[in-house]
Amino acid sequence: VSKIAVLTSGGDAPGMNPCIRAVVRTAMYNNVKMVGVRQGYKGLIEDDIYDMDSRSVSNILNLGGTILKTARCAEFRTPEGMETAYNNLKKRGVDALVVIGGDGTFTGALRFSKQYPDMAIMGVPGTIDNDLFGSDFTLGFDTATNTVVDALDKIRDTADAHDRLFFIEVMGRDAGCIALRAGISCGAEAIMLPEKDTAIADLIASVKSNQAKKSSSIVIVAEGDKNGGAYDVAQKVKAEVKSYDVKVTILGHLQRGGSPSAFDRVLGSRLGFSAVNALIQGETQKMVGLRGNKIELTKIEQALTHQFKLEDDLMLMSDILSI
Ligand code: ATP
Repeated sequence: VSKIAVLTSGGDAPGMNPCIRAVVRTAMYNNVKMVGVRQGYKGLIEDDIYDMDSRSVSNILNLGGTILKTARCAEFRTPEGMETAYNNLKKRGVDALVVIGGDGTFTGALRFSKQYPDMAIMGVPGTIDNDLFGSDFTLGFDTATNTVVDALDKIRDTADAHDRLFFIEVMGRDAGCIALRAGISCGAEAIMLPEKDTAIADLIASVKSNQAKKSSSIVIVAEGDKNGGAYDVAQKVKAEVKSYDVKVTILGHLQRGGSPSAFDRVLGSRLGFSAVNALIQGETQKMVGLRGNKIELTKIEQALTHQFKLEDDLMLMSDILSI
């Protein structure tokens, strides 16, 4: 490998910057040249690519978002778009690509690398959703979960003061990872998860039983829950629990921002470092991930086809501990 391009694509996630920093500096250390691509695959096609060195990534460890910007790009799905992207990389002498993103980003990277096998690619799991097979944790998940916990603690104060029932909608796409961990951390009375399929009748029963013994109740609704969003769920429950003052809060995009946690800074550094080392060792079409506190490579094909699973013990425990 003589020159690596790095990009961030899909949804942004705190921890992407520490990862970019690690990629660039590990490459420099190994005398591999670096370029950065702005706005993911869009920048590849539009030739928005610039030379990077160790100083290009100074003072970014603590920054949320991504200094490279990110985007979604329909054109990269077409053969013409991919060819333009390839030509832009080739004319700069780039022979490897580190892509930081989620499953869509990996799908694109794999297709690209199959079409142009002389372009090695390495994926880094960067998404707050934590929904990728091959890494126990994805970049940004820890920070986003801590942000949700911080918000829930504040909501608990006001919920308690007024004897309220709150429905809080949290992000995570089709995965309930943020909802589950944040719920356990804050002692939520109920957690509605896409992986669990809680019936509304069961939720109503649990809210009623909590009402008899607690002054406030917090129900977390993962955005991917099949009963609908927090407003829908609240609507369905409200009529049955008339004495409770019911409120709904949708946390929204604040969950994506903020300075990365120490965990995400270390994870980003570790994954970036390992991605470059793997490319130098001749690996391609793989994803670096953290499994059991070890860095492991997983074929992207496998990461895309295997289903990430929520921990059963956490699901069981969350119900028991909130009685
Ligand atoms: P997140 O999980 O945070 O949303 P993501 O990486 O899954 O991140 P997507 O928007 O799904 O986000 O994908 C990012 C980009 O990857 C797309 O905008 C597109 O450019 C590219 N991409 C996705 N699927 C394909 C595909 N089948 N072929 C080529 N490129 C693709």
